[in-house]
Amino acid sequence: MLRINDILDKAQSYLPPEDLEMIKKAYVYSATVHQGQVRLSGEPYLTHPMEVAGILADMKMDAATIISGLLHDTVEDTLSTIEQVEEEFGKDVSFLVSGLTKLSLISFRSQEERQAENFRKMILAMSSDIRILLVRLADRIHNMRTLQYQPPEKRVYIARETIDVYAPLANRLGINWMKTELEDLSFQYLSPEAYNELSIRVVQSNESRQRYTEEVKKLISEELKKFKIEGEVEGRAKHLYGIYKKMHEQHLNFDEVYDLIAFRVILDSDQEKGCYETLSVVHSLWKPVPGRFKDYIAMPKANNYQSLHTTVIGPYGERLEIQIRTRAMHEWAEKGIAAHWRYKEGRAYKDEEENQIKKLREILEIQQEIKNPKEFMSDLRLALFPEEVYVFTPHGDVKSFPKGATPVDFAYSIHTDVGNQCIGAKVNRNIVPLKYKLQNGDRVEIITQAGHHPSKDWLKYVVTTRAISKIRNWINVEDKKSSIALGRDLLEKEFKRHNLKLSTYIKSDEIKKVFSEYSVNTLDDLISQIGFGRVSPRQLVNHFLAKEEIIDTAQIEEKEKKKKIASPSLGVSLTGIDNMMVKFAKCCNPIPGEVISGYISRGRGITVHTVNCSHLKKLDKERIVDVQWNISQKTAYPVHVRVVCDDRKGVLTEVSSVISSFDINISYAQIETTHMVATCNFIIDVNDLHQLNQVISAIKQLSFVKSVARLRQ
Ligand code: MN
Repeated sequence: MLRINDILDKAQSYLPPEDLEMIKKAYVYSATVHQGQVRLSGEPYLTHPMEVAGILADMKMDAATIISGLLHDTVEDTLSTIEQVEEEFGKDVSFLVSGLTKLSLISFRSQEERQAENFRKMILAMSSDIRILLVRLADRIHNMRTLQYQPPEKRVYIARETIDVYAPLANRLGINWMKTELEDLSFQYLSPEAYNELSIRVVQSNESRQRYTEEVKKLISEELKKFKIEGEVEGRAKHLYGIYKKMHEQHLNFDEVYDLIAFRVILDSDQEKGCYETLSVVHSLWKPVPGRFKDYIAMPKANNYQSLHTTVIGPYGERLEIQIRTRAMHEWAEKGIAAHWRYKEGRAYKDEEENQIKKLREILEIQQEIKNPKEFMSDLRLALFPEEVYVFTPHGDVKSFPKGATPVDFAYSIHTDVGNQCIGAKVNRNIVPLKYKLQNGDRVEIITQAGHHPSKDWLKYVVTTRAISKIRNWINVEDKKSSIALGRDLLEKEFKRHNLKLSTYIKSDEIKKVFSEYSVNTLDDLISQIGFGRVSPRQLVNHFLAKEEIIDTAQIEEKEKKKKIASPSLGVSLTGIDNMMVKFAKCCNPIPGEVISGYISRGRGITVHTVNCSHLKKLDKERIVDVQWNISQKTAYPVHVRVVCDDRKGVLTEVSSVISSFDINISYAQIETTHMVATCNFIIDVNDLHQLNQVISAIKQLSFVKSVARLRQ
């Protein structure tokens, strides 16, 4: 079992004494809160965080990371709180520990590869500091090393998650040793038979392979010496899962896998030139296999891996794979992003304030100069500047959304009907408002109700194009429905005025003849164009009138106008038009008794103005229609009245009582006085113009009143 002194020994080689003190303190804290807890292996729980911290110290991570390793399970599994951790160990550590706690709460259930990729991205996005991910990987390494203590079904589940999610993440960060260890450990539990067979075969062929390895190493070394190239030659068996994958993908038997051993030349010099020189030495020694040379120095892999790879025909006519790289390249190949701390040694640890993100940006900048940034870049970017959020469905699938997405976006991503009928949402089992912004790792559930409709308001907070277009589409369809109703009504009236019956024309094919003129394909389209105000009903009727009748139209209008003036309060119009489709213009605020006109506003029905409203005169004449009052029951219309009078006591009361004597409700009253003049503002609810005129003249009768006026906007 690892002891605290072992961890301190590892750390003291590169960390200052005050950091070691903090690590010691974290050990004591962790030991205290985990006291009494036991792992499935029977060991004290503390062994786990200790091992994790040990791995991180081997990786030469900074003190905050090692401390987070010691504390990574405290907030989740003990009585310790994040506030306590912050108080004891500072903001940096508590930030890492809280990130780790959040990560430990999510788990991956889906078996789909596409889903695994999303889940990896979610973990990257949640690792707002790359150190969180490194601790998480170290945690997984130790859990995998002790997986035999888990019950069998859990072993397979954890191994699957490891090989699908965590090994690729280690690979993406370029940490080769973690990737191969995680793969081999998972392989052991996922395909135990294949694993056992392969490991026996690798051991059996070991002795002859050992001799062969030594021989090849010696040949390369001697040749390098001749050319005065200094470096080390390695020959190592590939990791089991690597061999297994190769056999599987290329349908090979074990004996056919020629490159069980990977040979490697690691140069002492840090100059790339040396690598190419070594390559030509090797190629002059053995004949290269065409098409097998790869220059990862000029074109590094996405995870920044650099090396020259070549395959040659070896001393026994066998294929032989050789990698050539400098010491620095080797460091990166094995430790990946974690190697960065080591490069920066002297400087990085003197300045404790320097944050990890700044360092990572440097790496990213270096990467940008290299030609192949792609995946590594975009993934790290995701972690550092998250632009997407990843959330779970109730089934454990992962969905990605642009940052700022809401449950409505989520609902539409499932199905249009789910979106349209969405009335609420639960996130992690709690009800949230529909405009809640989704967070990484949220488990989202949508509550629907049949017959419920989308709201225009949703457009204010949805961000996905899918949701936006689905909501707009729904609104357009609804607008069209009401435009058809309105258009049909207007058309019917216009036909009636000419003693024609709309229904006969609709039934006959005659109306179809005009479709092309208005660029429509169906009758509904044509009628909705009238409702939208794009086509006037008169225009359409003219198609069905004889020429002389068209001239008559003007006369009919004259007659109608006279009729209106003669009996302004009679008139029957607005009939049959759904009330929802009519609104009164705010500019002139008409009340019954006033002569009115309707204006067809696109998709919003008819707006009613007074006939001489100055605003109306500026509008498109083609879209103005005749409307008249049709009062079946008394309705109150709010009107703003301003009374100017002498400033004396009780004016407001006196004017109010006059208004009330007409049984008129006052919904607002206010008085302002300046220079002996009082201005009273009222909003009164009148039934019609007649009543308004009556009350105005009654107010005018009051001796102190100077003027009474109705105000319009
Ligand atoms: Mn753990």
